[in-house]
Amino acid sequence: MNTLGQQSQSSQRVLIMSGPSGSGKTTIVNRLIDEAPVKLMKSVSATTRKPRPQEVDGEDYYFLTDEDFRDRLAGNDFLEFAEVFASGFLYGTLRSEVERAWTEKAWAFLEIDVEGALNVMQQYPDAVTIFLKTPSAEEFERRLRSRGTENEEVIRKRLATAASELQFADRYRHIVVNDQLERAIGEICEILKSEETASNA
Ligand code: 5GP
Repeated sequence: MNTLGQQSQSSQRVLIMSGPSGSGKTTIVNRLIDEAPVKLMKSVSATTRKPRPQEVDGEDYYFLTDEDFRDRLAGNDFLEFAEVFASGFLYGTLRSEVERAWTEKAWAFLEIDVEGALNVMQQYPDAVTIFLKTPSAEEFERRLRSRGTENEEVIRKRLATAASELQFADRYRHIVVNDQLERAIGEICEILKSEETASNA
């Protein structure tokens, strides 16, 4: 029996995408939900960080207080969790999100950091894992700064995290460089098509 249920392995698909913030992940995630050749359902993570302007509770994240997050941890509600960017903020994947995807016969699509991804890979060795890179460190810094949503200290922490996360890129099954959006999306769609075919073989 699998950790989260009793369906056959081939119907319990997990897709994990990691990469530095500023690598264009969010845009790619949203495009893939609409365009991927397999049915993907985004796992909405829980976090203790505060919502940014435009972010909607229950859509972008479940925004929890520290206490709520820890209660849910104690209740074993999380498949994985991590403190991201040494920020003091916790982020985690709720088991219920993964179950929701599988109930809908969709792949559970997790956009999580490297620590969380390595954790899920241990539990789901068949997870399809993609590390998304920016073409260069300079381009990454430029994109991060151009968002204008973070202060200098946060940006520095994110740059340091990105450099250390890069060391784990080869633990992922696939590395995709986001040099051009359409090309990167096309490459990921091809990966998903071949992974789906392989799992049905
Ligand atoms: P942001 O604060 O910019 O929305 O996200 C920061 C980072 O948290 C991203 O790199 C993202 O991959 C990571 N993250 C988001 N949700 C989760 C989660 O559920 N678990 C883990 N381990 N990391 C997450």
